[in-house]
Amino acid sequence: LASRAFKKTDTVVKVDNLEIGGDKIHVMAGPCAVESREQLLKTAHTVKACGATFLRGGAFKPRTSPYSFQGLNEDGLKFLAEARTLTGLKIVTEVMDTRSVQLVAKYADVLQIGARNMQNFDLLKEVGRVSKPVLLKRGANATIEEFLAAAEYVLAGGNEDVILCERGVRGVNEFTRYTLDIAAVPVLKKLTHLPVVVDPSHATGHWNYVEPMAMASLAAGADGLIIEVHPEPEKALCDGAQSLTPKNFTVLMLRLAGLQNSV
Ligand code: PEP
Ligand code: MN
Repeated sequence: LASRAFKKTDTVVKVDNLEIGGDKIHVMAGPCAVESREQLLKTAHTVKACGATFLRGGAFKPRTSPYSFQGLNEDGLKFLAEARTLTGLKIVTEVMDTRSVQLVAKYADVLQIGARNMQNFDLLKEVGRVSKPVLLKRGANATIEEFLAAAEYVLAGGNEDVILCERGVRGVNEFTRYTLDIAAVPVLKKLTHLPVVVDPSHATGHWNYVEPMAMASLAAGADGLIIEVHPEPEKALCDGAQSLTPKNFTVLMLRLAGLQNSV
C-alpha cells in the first residue's frame, strides 16, 4: 500500500484546510516537551507569527532516563488544545502507548509515532484504526525498507494518512546527535507516494546546524519540516541544545521563504 507501484500519484494528507504533500511546504514547530501553559502559549504565538502551520510539543515524552522529565500527560494535551484555539495552529504530538491512543487522538490533529516506537507493531496497528493522520518517525537504526514496512502497518489498518519523517540515523559523526540521511528524502519519494518531512533538530542535536539542514531538506524535496523552538532554550527540560530561540527561528523562516521563492 505504501509503494509507488501500488499508487502512482502523491498522497496529500489533509489536516482540515491544510495539505501536507501538496504545493506548500509546512513547518511544524514548538518545544520538545510541553513544560507549562506559559511556555507553550508563548512558543505557539511566536511560531505562528513566523509562518509555522503546526505546533509540536510532547505531552508524553520517551526519555532515555526514567529520572528525566516525562511530560505533563493530559494536562499537556489540554495546553496544546488551548494553543490551537488561540492561534489556529494544528497540533502534532506524540503517542507512546496503545493505552493512550484514544486520549491523544481526542486533542491532537496529527498523532506522532516517535523513532523509538517505529517498530512498536501493536501501537502501529492501533493508530491504523484511528481517523487522525499519523506522523511516523524513522527509527534511529531503521533501514528505509523497515521504515516503509512500519508505514505499511498503519496503512493496512485502514488509515491512509501517513506522513513519513526522516530524523537521522545512528552514524559515526561524533559532532551531531544522529546522521541526517538527506538522501532518504529522494529515495522515499521514489519508493512511496507518502509525504516526507524532515526533523533537523533531532537529527543534528545542535541548534546551529538546524538551519543548514533545514535548507538542505527542502532542496532535497521534503514536503515540510519539524523543528524545536523554545522561548529560553537554556532552561528547557528537554533538548535545549537543539532548540532554536524565537529570534533564530524567525531568521530560519525568512531564509526558507527566500529559498522557496528562488526555486
Ligand atoms: C520528538 O520529536 O519529540 C522526539 C522524541 O523525536 P524522536 O522520536 O525522533 O527521537
Ligand atoms: Mn526533542
